[in-house]
Amino acid sequence: MLNIVLFGPPGAGKGTHSKKLVETYDLIHFSTGDILRAEITAKTQLGILAKTAIDKGELVSDDIVIGMMRNKIKQNINAKGLVFDGFPRTIPQAESLDKLLIENDISISTMLMLDVKKQELINRLQKRAEHSGRTDDADINIINNRIEVYEKQTLPIADFYKKQNKFLLINGIGSIETIFGRIQDAVNPFLN
Ligand code: AMP
Repeated sequence: MLNIVLFGPPGAGKGTHSKKLVETYDLIHFSTGDILRAEITAKTQLGILAKTAIDKGELVSDDIVIGMMRNKIKQNINAKGLVFDGFPRTIPQAESLDKLLIENDISISTMLMLDVKKQELINRLQKRAEHSGRTDDADINIINNRIEVYEKQTLPIADFYKKQNKFLLINGIGSIETIFGRIQDAVNPFLN
């Protein structure tokens, strides 16, 4: 299986390139952000719990997101591969993901980190707000908080994967096609 963690700060292009990975390599896409937003729209108990955190640019609790992913992984164990987009976002999530995968006799092939500087992230998120309808993209204070939360709570995961020799840095600046070309160059060696 080709199992990829697509990693990077908010606005780095994880969603865009996850979709392209899914189309190109016939993989299953898991975006915790998309799943949580769908729960909010459906006004489920989980959605109500998640909304408070998302609206502030904070992280939803590890228990909630790990529980969500446990079921999704079990249901897709026969896929060609999985793309994790926006998950894991904390060290406990990364540790749990490893455990969940081991339980199912699979593992992460590589983590790809999209490298984009802070001002470019802010520009992209503000532009996305014009059509995404996402309130967390529309407010500069929430954007800044999301980037800060990323730096404090999420960035340490890069070391977690570096220690496992599963970390590849991708230059996230350029056209979508140029960046995706770099991603394909990184991913192709993992194909059987
Ligand atoms: P995203 O669509 O990946 O930008 O995520 C939007 C928001 O959903 C984040 O700012 C968090 O509040 C929440 N979220 C998404 N994924 C996670 C995760 N793995 N852990 C905790 N919160 C998450």
